[in-house]
Amino acid sequence: MSDRLLELRGIRRSFGDHHVLRGVDLDVDAHEVVALIGASGSGKSTLLRTVNLLEPIDDGIIRLAGDDISDPRVDADGVRARIGAVFQHYNLFPHLRVLENVTLAARLVHRMPRAEADRRGRELLASIGLDGFAGAYPDRLSGGQQQRVAIVRAILTDPQLLLLDEVTSALDPELVGEVLALVRALADGGTTILMATHEMAFAREVADRVVFLDGGVVVEEGPAAQVLADPQEPRTREFLSRLL
Ligand code: ADP
Ligand code: MG
Repeated sequence: MSDRLLELRGIRRSFGDHHVLRGVDLDVDAHEVVALIGASGSGKSTLLRTVNLLEPIDDGIIRLAGDDISDPRVDADGVRARIGAVFQHYNLFPHLRVLENVTLAARLVHRMPRAEADRRGRELLASIGLDGFAGAYPDRLSGGQQQRVAIVRAILTDPQLLLLDEVTSALDPELVGEVLALVRALADGGTTILMATHEMAFAREVADRVVFLDGGVVVEEGPAAQVLADPQEPRTREFLSRLL
């Protein structure tokens, strides 16, 4: 038995007559880090949103730890409680203090007692050197600090799976490193991560596997070093060569 955590089979999604996902098959094993790469508009964000049920699918099956979460009768909030997600743009509520941001979902969705949520929140903030900002509002933090707080919030309740969608692409270049360092630390700690990224050097360093999405399907996948250094498919080669 493999320790497969996420299984996508034949995922289809269209917007009108625009067929964005045309039958995507993708697996993520427990403790694996998978980087999803592909041109802008190739459907990476759409695919990630299908996984935490923010995007309905037209066809296909999504299994999380063996459970069919694409079944329309599934409890979507219950599924989302098992998945942490961080997106491209700042994810924090501006009117809530940092610690409140970090603990809100844990308290409301997971019914974690406030004392426990606060304790874990402060621990995690301390682990990224931001405990001094617990009582501050997000606008006091840099973009990189805000994204790290958003990531910490996503892992507060130990989700089975962490989805990261281009978490550094809205940041000034000098702030990218601190966010990638946190992702690397989570990966090293065994967090299962599916991340869309345009940071190929980072993908090579952190991802176990790279999946290249093009034309609505997975065109190529394999060990990160192999796909990025020695792609087999012409479309992968072309995509990577355009990044140089
Ligand atoms: P990526 O994240 O790889 O850049 P996206 O998943 O954001 O790609 O988008 C893939 C395509 O789907 C794009 O052409 C985008 O315009 C289209 N798309 C995404 N969401 C919607 C939507 N809600 N309505 C219409 N088109 C959409
Ligand atoms: Mg995107």
